[in-house]
Amino acid sequence: MAFEGLAERLQGTLQKIKGKGKISEADVKEMMKDVRRALIEADVNLKVVKEFVKNVSERAVGQEVMKSLTPGQHVIKIVKDELTELMGGEQSQISFATRPPTVIMMVGLQGAGKTTTTGKLANVLRKKYNKKPLLVAADIYRPAAIKQLETLGKQLSLPVFALGTDVSPVEIVKQALEHAKEEHHDVVMIDTAGRLHIDETLMQELKDIRAIKEPDEIFLVVDAMTGQDAVNVANNFNETLGITGVLLTKLDGDTRGGAALSIRSVTQKPIKFVGMGEKMDALEAFHPERMASRILGMGDMMSLIEKAQANVDEEKAKELEEKFRTQSFTFDDFLEQLSQVKQMGPLDEILKMLPGAGKIKGLENAKVDEKQMDRVEAIIYSMTAKEKTTPEIINGPRKKRIAKGSGTSIQDVNRLLKQFEDMKKMMKQMTNMQQKGKKKMRMP
Ligand code: GDP
Repeated sequence: MAFEGLAERLQGTLQKIKGKGKISEADVKEMMKDVRRALIEADVNLKVVKEFVKNVSERAVGQEVMKSLTPGQHVIKIVKDELTELMGGEQSQISFATRPPTVIMMVGLQGAGKTTTTGKLANVLRKKYNKKPLLVAADIYRPAAIKQLETLGKQLSLPVFALGTDVSPVEIVKQALEHAKEEHHDVVMIDTAGRLHIDETLMQELKDIRAIKEPDEIFLVVDAMTGQDAVNVANNFNETLGITGVLLTKLDGDTRGGAALSIRSVTQKPIKFVGMGEKMDALEAFHPERMASRILGMGDMMSLIEKAQANVDEEKAKELEEKFRTQSFTFDDFLEQLSQVKQMGPLDEILKMLPGAGKIKGLENAKVDEKQMDRVEAIIYSMTAKEKTTPEIINGPRKKRIAKGSGTSIQDVNRLLKQFEDMKKMMKQMTNMQQKGKKKMRMP
């Protein structure tokens, strides 16, 4: 999981200062020493680290903290604000042309995930923005690249414009633009050639494509796993070609996160989307604030809710909310949730979106074992209908029977019962919070 080390270090450091009623310059200095080390270890660009430390330090010893009733908390808020700012502040949207088609040029080094991301982004544009994208295969140097795009197109039922490898990329793009007009495509996505390294010929070719019709977006696809290299590549592409945004791939891997934290600051270009897996739906809009919140262990409820909304049908969600509210949530509902959660993707990532997940016992290094989920399911299947709705009746002999029936131990059963209780409590708190929030501000 990305950012793991950084998250752990920062959370550890901030924990020490959290409850403090008074914060001295020495405290701030001490804390920032740790923060600096954590950022450097996460492979954050040195200049960026310096700037960040300076900004936080200045604010942390300033008036706003002195005047605050909870200085410790206030310092943590400053760290979060600055971390958000570092990653771009506001979420950056896609610029669509006022007169379609919108032209999006996808550039990047070979292996960064350019072709895959082209498919993923086209999918997002269609689903979330109701666009009708045309994919253009302009990498004529690797026949496999054209094939790959065509395969993705087929998989997503999206049209791909290709003219083979004998026509120049410039000619391909010209014809593709004509074709897009005729077929009323409102977005044209050009998958350009990649190389192993940046070279003159590649850059010239990209400039020639850019010159046909100024693209509305030039997205650089970079691999987060390459750390500082990703930052250098971004800088280079930006200086020679001029990019409008970065799509950071492989953030699902165990990257230390340096690229995500440095790119915006170094290039002044926003990260627009992040790749979270190989599948076609694994592309997420990049929200600096949510990411900062996740890194600092404050959770990312918004993303979690959106993820859930994409997977849960409205009716059932309402029913469930009612059950949470009235405390009538049973093990049957739990089973159903379990199967829905399984559809949401790797569990350890989902859990990390919960606020304070890092601190919940047993969750700190949550490598959620999918087998464990199967075990939980087996335990619930071994309960009687009555036990599922009123788990309070599960006494010693019943536990023994359930454990035997599910091939688990009494400890396993106890653990699940305890988790179920805790979960009910947490859900009650959450729904209460939600209710209060709803009253305060009506969502549009
Ligand atoms: P290109 O040479 O830049 O076009 O790269 P590809 O699109 O062929 O991708 C290279 C490899 O990276 C493929 O195996 C992709 O499945 C993989 N990949 C791309 N994006 C992601 C991502 O966000 N997460 C993970 N785990 N793999 C990715």
